Amino acid sequence: MAEGGAPVRLFEMRPAVSTPAHQSDRLGELVCSNSLKSDMDGSAPHQLKWELRRCKSLLLSVADQARVPAGAALAVDRERFSQAVTDAILEHPRITLDRSEVVALPTDQIAIIATGPLTSPGLSCFIQGLTGEQALYFYDAISPIVDADSIDWSKVFRHSRYGREQLPQGAENGGQRAQDGDYVNCPMTPEEYHRFYSELIRAESVPMKEFEQAIYFESCLPVEELARRGLDTLRFGPMKPVGLKDPRTGKTPYAVVQLRQENLIADAYNMVGFQNHLRYGEQQRVLRLIPGLEQAEFIRLGQIHRNTFLNAPRLLNGALQLKKRAGLYFAGQICGVEGYVESIATGLVAAWNVLRLMRGDPALPWPRNTAIGSLLFYITEAEPEHFQPMNINFGLLPKADLTGARGHRRERQIKMAREAMEGFLQNESQRMDWRSATGA
Ligand SMILES: Cc1cc2nc3c(=O)[nH]c(=O)nc-3n(C[C@H](O)[C@H](O)[C@H](O)COP(=O)(O)OP(=O)(O)OC[C@H]3O[C@@H](n4cnc5c(N)ncnc54)[C@H](O)[C@@H]3O)c2cc1C
Repeated sequence: MAEGGAPVRLFEMRPAVSTPAHQSDRLGELVCSNSLKSDMDGSAPHQLKWELRRCKSLLLSVADQARVPAGAALAVDRERFSQAVTDAILEHPRITLDRSEVVALPTDQIAIIATGPLTSPGLSCFIQGLTGEQALYFYDAISPIVDADSIDWSKVFRHSRYGREQLPQGAENGGQRAQDGDYVNCPMTPEEYHRFYSELIRAESVPMKEFEQAIYFESCLPVEELARRGLDTLRFGPMKPVGLKDPRTGKTPYAVVQLRQENLIADAYNMVGFQNHLRYGEQQRVLRLIPGLEQAEFIRLGQIHRNTFLNAPRLLNGALQLKKRAGLYFAGQICGVEGYVESIATGLVAAWNVLRLMRGDPALPWPRNTAIGSLLFYITEAEPEHFQPMNINFGLLPKADLTGARGHRRERQIKMAREAMEGFLQNESQRMDWRSATGA
């Protein structure tokens, strides 16, 4: 916003008030990993970075300068990174940094809330007042998502509990869109179940941070915790086979893992009730013991962590503006994306839209084919009932053509994204003379 000519007052509550994860008073502190994920051409995280670099993102250029060797990933020296971000903000002629906690926002002011997964309780209360208690969440219980192409369709069957709907074997292949209430079932024999069970309860978990311990008591238990309560607990919980008949045998399986199609991620299935806290390598090993998932490729693995985020599809429009309060925008993790670079991208989108608002222009028509546009499409158009924050992945980008090997399809997605981005920047460039537009 400041680069575009707007005078900005930036509030940061640290060090006066801190979060349970931050350790310094610096801006842009990376609270955990120092990796901004893959920077390898051909990957979805790289495409997102490519677009941000084309948009001259300040944070991406600082990250590039603070880069440390990390193979194909963009990893940064976290001290150098956050110091450079802090310096850039402090030196900026149009930014005033105010080190205090915000607990309310006057209605007559334009603001972006980007307070992250550990938004302070005071501000969370204020946001809840605006959005309703049911629309702001405080933790994430994410189930793994499987790429449909990697499912062995000969071993699974589509069937809703108590036979609400059933499709012939193979009809679902190629990612046919599921009807509401339609599930893909991975049936298990007693031997398969017992083997899976014993590997699940022995698999290594990620240690919970102290401030996250309370999450377990709130509601969803991780599947491995549920399993530890007894050999049959899962068979009476997320793996219950009741009301499901395998059309090949006409019998009810001993246990079942159900997959529900992700409506907006073409060709992807969510593992119902399989939120977990296992290490990624362990998770893949154990989940691949499930019949039909032996070769599974996971678009996203399960996680449970503290995270403050909005039910964005209900509350936000494509400009990241609160539908019911035009001057208020959300960006970063709180708007329903997951990850450092995704947060940077939504910050840029919100800032550009604020500049448009100040100028009296309509919101930016971000192209759907781009990685940034796909993130916006997901957070505003996903099914609100099952909404979970998401990292960028190929499943979010539109698929123009389903033919060919996965690698080729991805190349085409990237080509489409780059063409759309170049066209967008070309169209917008004449209108992006922010400084004269905002009169600053
Ligand atoms: C424990 C933990 C580990 C994580 N690990 C990773 C990881 O390895 N990789 C990854 O990509 N992502 C990780 N994340 C997610 C990561 O935090 C986000 O991707 C990213 O930092 C979000 O950026 P943001 O700008 O939205 O929020 P933040 O980076 O958290 O910035 C928000 C800022 O707002 C300030 N603030 C909060 N409330 C107020 C208030 N009321 N008034 C004023 N200031 C306020 C905070 O002090 C903070 O500086 C992790 C999150 C947590 C909690």
